[in-house]
Amino acid sequence: MNPVPDGASNKPRIEPVQLLIAWLVVASPGLLTLAGLLLTDILPPPAAALGAGGCLVLSLVVARWHLHGLMSLRDYADRLLTSDEPPPPETRRFGPLQELTSAVARLHRQGRDGLEEARRLAEARSQVLDGVFDPLLLLDNEMRIVGANDAARRLFGRALRGRSLTQVLRDPDLLDGVEAALTQGEGRTVSLTLTTPVACDFMAGVQPLARPAPDGTSLILSFHDVTALRRAEQMRADFAANASHEIRTPLAALIGFIETLRGPAKGDIEAADRFLEIMQEQAQRMARLVEDLLSLARIEVNEHQPPTGRVDVALLVERVAATFELQAARRKMKVTTSSDPDLPMALGETDELTQLFQNLIDNALKYGRPGGVVRVNVRLVDRLPAQLLSGATSSAALQERAVLVEVRDEGEGIAREHLSRLTERFYRVDPARSRSAGGTGLGLAIVKHIVSRHRGALTIESEIGVGSVFSVHLRLAPALESDLPRRHQNVM
Ligand code: ADP
Repeated sequence: MNPVPDGASNKPRIEPVQLLIAWLVVASPGLLTLAGLLLTDILPPPAAALGAGGCLVLSLVVARWHLHGLMSLRDYADRLLTSDEPPPPETRRFGPLQELTSAVARLHRQGRDGLEEARRLAEARSQVLDGVFDPLLLLDNEMRIVGANDAARRLFGRALRGRSLTQVLRDPDLLDGVEAALTQGEGRTVSLTLTTPVACDFMAGVQPLARPAPDGTSLILSFHDVTALRRAEQMRADFAANASHEIRTPLAALIGFIETLRGPAKGDIEAADRFLEIMQEQAQRMARLVEDLLSLARIEVNEHQPPTGRVDVALLVERVAATFELQAARRKMKVTTSSDPDLPMALGETDELTQLFQNLIDNALKYGRPGGVVRVNVRLVDRLPAQLLSGATSSAALQERAVLVEVRDEGEGIAREHLSRLTERFYRVDPARSRSAGGTGLGLAIVKHIVSRHRGALTIESEIGVGSVFSVHLRLAPALESDLPRRHQNVM
């Protein structure tokens, strides 16, 4: 049984049995020698008895002294387990016990430093893992989770450690991929879709380690979210399909009419007149489509560069509205404009803003009530919509004011379920009506991209039977030197 030391100054407890054994071990060579001398009559019995007594006393002192040193060292080693820097035992300044004590202390320090290093490494590793944007799972060779980063905990839940991968993910392709990677030792990628909380597409990297890590990690499973990429691919494919469909329709009509004019209707002046009118309409439709596609491409290319120009929005809107007089009159409609006096300049590009308001007023006339009024109002508002506000610095606070343009019509309105999709390319509530009104299905997509390049906001409100309001918030242009109050200058 080990005695438990309760302090460095306490004397080590020595068990009587230990002392007895040590005493006998130390005394036995001397006693045996004396016995030999006695038996061979070299020493007389009294001298042998005296020698034996002396030997026993001396060996008791030596055994006790050594045992005391050893037990102090043992107690010191015990104290090292519970305390970081316990005082060393009281041993002689020199000698093997002192050296042994120093060696134990050195060993302990090295062990402690090694443990500290290992702890720091483990901490750094978990920080590195948490810093990785993609979710990561560390698996052992039984497909149990030994570790996970923050992103993985957010995706799969917090209690992951110790669970089997099969309990967390049920995708058969991924499970097969992990199993194969563990047995064959080769990495691979597997695509999978996770349905909760919302459907997302992932590309999973399955990478086995050359040797298992000390914590059992044999394979790293990483998940890269490719939902946006897939959606963009899908949108590109849809866009190409839609665009070619939109172009093919008038093209087919043109080809058909040309064939008719050259074949069955050859020489028929009346038919030629009628067909040529339709052909002109179709050709114009194609031209509008190509123009809108080119505009969209141009705006998209520049979208990352905000405009730097200064635009008098009230004046611009008035000029645009004036160009619609004839078109409005054809439907017995009117376009009216109103604006706050002394509006500050907005940050923008004149050509793009002209196109933006042309598209909105054109739509208001196309889908507005015949005989109705389209009202365009320009005013200064105190705040940009919440989603556009940057940090609350004082300069940002100054920038919160915005120019708001509202294009209001008295049309049939748009049902709520369509509102969020109106700015998608080629999305139309009523395709036939849009086409018959000469729409390309790209007008609001162009509006959205122009607003987005201007770092502004577009909101659409509509009430069935009442009409729609398309609102555009534009940022103010920075004040020019000439706009600022005069500063006093000290000329030295
Ligand atoms: P289009 O060329 O078809 O007008 P847009 O992108 O300009 O294409 O508009 C998309 C769809 O949004 C239109 O087809 C129409 O259904 C709807 N829309 C746009 N503006 C209005 C409006 N002022 N009133 C009612 N519906 C509108």
